[in-house]
Amino acid sequence: MTYEFDAVIVGGGGAGLYAALEASQTAKTAVVSKLYPMRSHTGAAQGGIGAALGNVDRDRPEWHAFDTVKGGDYLVDQEAARILSDDAVRAVYDLENRGLPFSRTPEGRIDQRRFGGHTSNFGEQAVKRSCYAADRTGHMILQTLYQQCIKNDVQFYDEFQVVDVIMNGRTVGGVVAFELKTGEIHTFKAKAVLFATGGFGRMFRITSNAHANTGDGPAILARAGIPMEDMEFYQFHPTGIRGMGILITEGVRGEGGILRNKDGERFMERYAPTLLDLAPRDMVSRAIMTEVLEGRGIRGDGKIDDFVYLDATHLGRETVEAKIPDIQDFCKTYLAIDPATAAMPVQPTAHYAMGGIPTDTHGRVVDGTGAYNGLYAAGECACVSVHGANRLGTNSLVDLIVFGRRAGQHIAEFVKGSDAPSVSPDADGAARKRIDRIREARNGDGGNPADIYSRMQSTMMENVGVYRDDDRMAVAVSDVQALREEFSFIKPQDTGTDFNAEILGLLELENLLDLSLLTAASAKNRTESRGAHSRRDYPERNDDEWLKHTLARLTNSGEVEIEYKDVDISIWEPKPRTY
Ligand SMILES: Cc1cc2nc3c(=O)[nH]c(=O)nc-3n(C[C@H](O)[C@H](O)[C@H](O)COP(=O)(O)OP(=O)(O)OC[C@H]3O[C@@H](n4cnc5c(N)ncnc54)[C@H](O)[C@@H]3O)c2cc1C
Repeated sequence: MTYEFDAVIVGGGGAGLYAALEASQTAKTAVVSKLYPMRSHTGAAQGGIGAALGNVDRDRPEWHAFDTVKGGDYLVDQEAARILSDDAVRAVYDLENRGLPFSRTPEGRIDQRRFGGHTSNFGEQAVKRSCYAADRTGHMILQTLYQQCIKNDVQFYDEFQVVDVIMNGRTVGGVVAFELKTGEIHTFKAKAVLFATGGFGRMFRITSNAHANTGDGPAILARAGIPMEDMEFYQFHPTGIRGMGILITEGVRGEGGILRNKDGERFMERYAPTLLDLAPRDMVSRAIMTEVLEGRGIRGDGKIDDFVYLDATHLGRETVEAKIPDIQDFCKTYLAIDPATAAMPVQPTAHYAMGGIPTDTHGRVVDGTGAYNGLYAAGECACVSVHGANRLGTNSLVDLIVFGRRAGQHIAEFVKGSDAPSVSPDADGAARKRIDRIREARNGDGGNPADIYSRMQSTMMENVGVYRDDDRMAVAVSDVQALREEFSFIKPQDTGTDFNAEILGLLELENLLDLSLLTAASAKNRTESRGAHSRRDYPERNDDEWLKHTLARLTNSGEVEIEYKDVDISIWEPKPRTY
């Protein structure tokens, strides 16, 4: 079928729903989502939204912006960080007015807690900045925004997986989607298209990310010739449940939880004497890996799979039950322990993509020659760039509600002045061909998709993980190239039409392979250490040569071409980073 809208939003997570809400003020708007919106990964966000409300400690948006820039190891675009932290305050009150049930102080104000890297007065001491609804903040955001979208007559197409974007030169014309229930291919024509497809942590073996986080939006745009920004900066969260990667929110440390090695030592005293366990995530993940590799992990044999303890037993049962009830539940379910009485075994887990689709501060997709017409991106799949080389905890939810909203507002204006898109009758041709190619397979015997998936995750985890070096990244690049080749020979078992989740899974795997290649190649190219990109062979940050964003383009022949973009350092001079 063919549908026609003013605006199509791809993705029903926090960024997509906020953009849809704003766009629908003037535009006939559809949300096309491969999941039911309430199942989006935003719903898993536990810890909170950072905003300098100053309800508990004295705070200022300017301090929030500074922490964001410093936390991002000065690769952050500073004007964007200023917008983020100024607008965060308004956005949190807006969500409160729309019905979000925040946790409260005894006086009835929105309560706030500490999070890594958030400080008062430019690094003086940790500040309580994260606004939260127990440990279910993201879930509450989705509920709040979804009901507002329904009220605004946004049309929802659930379990429709977008597989291609329609471009006429530099102007967008719509998207092509595959309907899970029927296997039908649909064309959505639109004057404006926003990608809000979330993260791509599934490229790593141990990850906090949901199964659906396969980076479809960035991969679709990369294949359309749009470069991806700063893909080498992938964040490992320090505290995933050992072996599983399921997230233990930083909120546990925000409430006073302590990391300990096998000797019971609070080892963060040696790595970040001021902020201790609440140093930024890149530093804490490296500290844990160093403890493990030097034999102070819990099993103590220096293997990469060793772990450390996150101890919350001293907080008392009442605090654990009131402030981190879901974490308590996870620990009981997956580990058969109660965090009120036993320490949690944790290790770093692949968590968040700082890089992605390059945009300006209105969410418009940009490359070296300027903005594309009508094409937008927001949320984790986008790179504004407010997270630079390392995102601070709570800043992703802020990113969704600040830049999702701004993109929606821009779309609402943009569609007023633009004509209906011109879309050729065979606009879905490329998508059909791609799906037919997968369905029919190029070669009889085919490869094993599950095996390709797991080899991709292993090479990315082992070779493009917390610590990197040239040899390992070269292995990752060539492994992924080989897996892409193998992928072209796979043969699905289910060739039917109804509920063919296998075909959709294969399309997702192909997306992850493309993004793994862009990530590994961008990482290998950057010969310095900065934020989450930490190289043994180039251990120092090198501002003279590398204070620049990477723009990596996937060519038709499967190579990666790299260009660069300046970083906006208009407010603060880059300084060495100590905590
Ligand atoms: C366990 C966990 C806890 C977190 N906790 C916090 C926290 O406390 N604070 C914080 O700031 N950040 C947190 N984060 C990060 C933050 O939650 C995410 O970065 C953010 O929610 C991403 O939102 P999004 O709207 O960009 O994407 P998502 O919420 O992931 O939504 C993506 C949407 O895109 C749709 N989609 C994807 N591909 C397609 C396709 N091909 N076609 C159609 N639709 C598609 C999906 O259906 C989905 O609706 C956490 C992340 C995780 C994994």
